Amino acid sequence: SVAYDFDTVSTATPNDLEAFWMGFTANRAFKARPRMVARAKDMHYFTPEGRPILDASAGLWCANAGHSRDPIVQAIQKQAAELDFAPTFQYGHPTAFRAASRIAELAPGDLDHVFFCNSGSEADDTALKIALAYHAIRGNGTRTRLIGRERGYHGVGFGGISVGGISPNRRFFGGMLTGVDHLPHTYDREKQAFSKGEPEWGAERAEALEGIVALHDAQTIAAVIVEPMAGSTGGLPAPKGYLKRLREICDKYGILLIFDEVITGFGRLGFPFAAERYGVVPDMIAFAKGVTSGTVPMGGVIVRKGIYDTFMDGPEHVIELFHGYTYSGHPLACAASLATLDLYRDEGLFERAREMEPVFADAMMSLKGKPGILDIRTVGLVGAFDMAPSPEGPGKRGFKAMEVGFHDNGIMFRVTGDTLAVSPPLIISESQVGEIVDKLSKTIDAVM
Ligand code: PLP
Repeated sequence: SVAYDFDTVSTATPNDLEAFWMGFTANRAFKARPRMVARAKDMHYFTPEGRPILDASAGLWCANAGHSRDPIVQAIQKQAAELDFAPTFQYGHPTAFRAASRIAELAPGDLDHVFFCNSGSEADDTALKIALAYHAIRGNGTRTRLIGRERGYHGVGFGGISVGGISPNRRFFGGMLTGVDHLPHTYDREKQAFSKGEPEWGAERAEALEGIVALHDAQTIAAVIVEPMAGSTGGLPAPKGYLKRLREICDKYGILLIFDEVITGFGRLGFPFAAERYGVVPDMIAFAKGVTSGTVPMGGVIVRKGIYDTFMDGPEHVIELFHGYTYSGHPLACAASLATLDLYRDEGLFERAREMEPVFADAMMSLKGKPGILDIRTVGLVGAFDMAPSPEGPGKRGFKAMEVGFHDNGIMFRVTGDTLAVSPPLIISESQVGEIVDKLSKTIDAVM
């Protein structure tokens, strides 16, 4: 087994890295050459030895306010001392109601009720379950089909992988994934390469929903779920007009539209939610990550008033929806969320992201023309770089870039296959944008 020296962290005893089976990780390679961080502040992580790592991925697309920010830290500490846990099944605590109100306030239109859970995966499964229950309660029990999209990522629950469009996430779990269909993804390199923001081409891909309706009959379809920008499969922004068209088709056939805003929520695209950027009001928004800037696990679903009201029927003592998590509306998460939302507001971080977008986009595009770079996409504070795969096979070059980036160039970014994605905290300065480009450039050179 492999030992890692944690001396500089907290213990004099070398630790064994074997016991932790890490998710979405090449475990043997990690344990041979660990990319370990022990501390974080603002835009940086620090290795156990104290070496700074520029955080170009906001952790995992979540630390939008930057790391270990004092007001959030203090709010969590205070809440832990005051009320560590309280159930939100049949009992309640004030912080959860405050957090729900604040989150609902940020959402567009009549999206004004919040169902809490603890992660993006739970948020997506919750949204899908609400959609099915909603139709059943209204007497449309045949509406059980769920429509996702190729290259979509909706977490790792059985609901999420069913509608998700990433084959390795689905491969071994096929037996459960019935009753779904998928829209085509919206990416076409020939038509979209090196676009800043929403590509001009691609809205026509929404028309495939008409085909799906024609095939299955609208009366069998409960909901469509899409990410306004597909994050995990390489930062694919919605083409111009695409989401509006989906909304129109869903309205025409009584299908609910769910936006998975686990990444795009809380400022990533310069607005509280991407729904606002695109001027499209979905029926539900799934959120997580940025709601607490990653500090305490939290997720949730914001639903339109009409959906909530549909459930509020029958005898008053009867539970309306048989769903929930022990930690739904956990006091620490709610306190973290309130402090995070205050920080976003007080520092104007969503507006900041919007103002920074053109600078960021130009900086990312400056790597165009580098040998082996096939495409660069940007939207909000997201940048994605497709590298040509190595002759050794797909994913090898991306993996090597992650190692070189961390160990040699002091940068953390996200890698999917041979695509590098950056999504820095929204507090990033212009000079740090330049630093990301330099570090990426060196890293790409090293792996080509
Ligand atoms: N949905 C989207 C769009 C995501 O990007 C993610 C995570 O990256 C999830 C859902 C799943 O969230 P979690 O890992 O918190 O379960």
